[in-house]
Amino acid sequence: MALVCVPIRERTAGGMVRAARAARRRGADLVELRLDYLARCGPKDIESLAERLRSVPAVATLRPEREGGRYRGGERPRLDLLERAIRCGFEHVDLELSIGRRELCRLTGLARRRGVRAIVSHHDFRRTPPVAGIVQRLRQCVRAGGLAKAAFTVLRPGDCARILGAARRARGRAPGAIVVGMGPAGTITRTLSPFLGAAFVYAGLDRRRLTAPGQPDIGALMEYWKVAGGPGRVGASTGLYGILGHPLGHSLSPALQNAAFRGLGLDAAYLPFDVPPRALADTLGALRAAGLRGANVTIPHKTAVMELLDSLDGAAAGVGAVNTIVRSNGRLCGYNTDVAGFVGALEGRGVVLRGARALVVGAGGAARAAVHGLLMRGAAVTVVNRHRRRAEGLAGRLGGTGITVANLRDIGELAGRSDILVNCTPVGMRGFPAESPVPPRSLHRGMAVLDMVYNPVRTPLLGAARRRGALGIPGVEMFLGQAEESFRLWTGKRFPDAAARAVLCNSRFSTSRH
Ligand code: NAP
Repeated sequence: MALVCVPIRERTAGGMVRAARAARRRGADLVELRLDYLARCGPKDIESLAERLRSVPAVATLRPEREGGRYRGGERPRLDLLERAIRCGFEHVDLELSIGRRELCRLTGLARRRGVRAIVSHHDFRRTPPVAGIVQRLRQCVRAGGLAKAAFTVLRPGDCARILGAARRARGRAPGAIVVGMGPAGTITRTLSPFLGAAFVYAGLDRRRLTAPGQPDIGALMEYWKVAGGPGRVGASTGLYGILGHPLGHSLSPALQNAAFRGLGLDAAYLPFDVPPRALADTLGALRAAGLRGANVTIPHKTAVMELLDSLDGAAAGVGAVNTIVRSNGRLCGYNTDVAGFVGALEGRGVVLRGARALVVGAGGAARAAVHGLLMRGAAVTVVNRHRRRAEGLAGRLGGTGITVANLRDIGELAGRSDILVNCTPVGMRGFPAESPVPPRSLHRGMAVLDMVYNPVRTPLLGAARRRGALGIPGVEMFLGQAEESFRLWTGKRFPDAAARAVLCNSRFSTSRH
């Protein structure tokens, strides 16, 4: 399981002690003392630091300039200082692969005898080599007698997949290896490293004190991982799941799915990946290389992701959108569980779809799932949309004789004649007009009204449905249904209801079902 390590770079020993204690208070498992940042670093300074920080697990590092550090002295005195750090009893010592085999083996041997764990590190500031080159470096680090740590400059986002693929391939022979991509484009290699068995994840003490480009600060790291219980819960055997979308701010899926994994005692973690449209292919490539087992996909990637997958199931191909990815025999397959969530929300409330007249308002991705589900169950569907041509496009794509496109101005009359009304627009959602997308007086007794909007749970449309004696079904019931179906596809298990209830009670969402 990954430990959180905060590198400390201060000019004075006193500053280092204070910063190391602050790092522990902020949740660090250990600190890396960057001795090369000290204005003065002699044997006595190292001994005094070891003594003052006896209760703080620490890595002693004295990085030379050639490896991106600040140490400018000769190599012999540097090795003597590292030897002193080993003899002083630091928990770990970082030794660069470039020290050379003979001297390195001597120091790692000494560390072993003194009960100190040696980290053998390699830094490439020019580029990321091919997978075989990375694996070879990791093996050299292990052969030298240490825990392997390698960092490569990421020039283009595609490099991340190579780093993660190599880390995955080397897992057996380099247990605990820490392999990261340096640079802003390499951040995902740091995020995913615990799933590849990395012994440590590195984070700066705060935003002003980062030691490598692309490194997060410990506050941001802890906040990001909170929903999955922290990187300390994740190891090489932990299943990697997540959601890809942009923006992801209010998504309830991470809390819901992590609660379900925990509820069943499964070794898995579900993380949010905020992916701008241009980065989708590279991010999915990195996740694939890291062994992604499953994911949800949301706005704006549901259609674009399709061409990046190895296969599509019937509903996803029919709807033309994917909201769930499942890994099976190393291949990524796209599913659409919005359809099952939608149909389940209606049928769960006893609504009969066969032969029903349904009015769908909207023609975006959610409307496509609704129309597909309604047609599949034998309902006759009418679609209205602000831009009629989009509704016509939807009807053309989903085909079938049971679908009609009508004018938005007739919406009241159409609703008055319908058994089922589905709102697939954001009207009524927080940040949009707080109004009903159909004239309230067109709603009537015996009608089922499903509002896909789930934030807030009680929308103006559902309020109007209740007042008019119609059956109102909140969008959160469909949301839960699609989440349960995704979970079942990934794990083959039933979503634990108690987990969902706990998450919904603790969030600003709630539903009559719970
Ligand atoms: P989308 O692909 O962007 O489509 C949005 C649709 O809403 C389009 O038909 C658009 O019409 C229409 N629209 C947007 N603003 C409007 C306005 N001010 N007045 C009238 N029509 C408007 O989005 P989506 O993925 O389909 O999502 C639609 C809604 O469903 C969102 O609120 C989303 O949160 C919700 N949803 C809920 C669930 C669930 O599980 N409950 C699942 C998926 C989606 P034009 O074509 O004319 O622009």
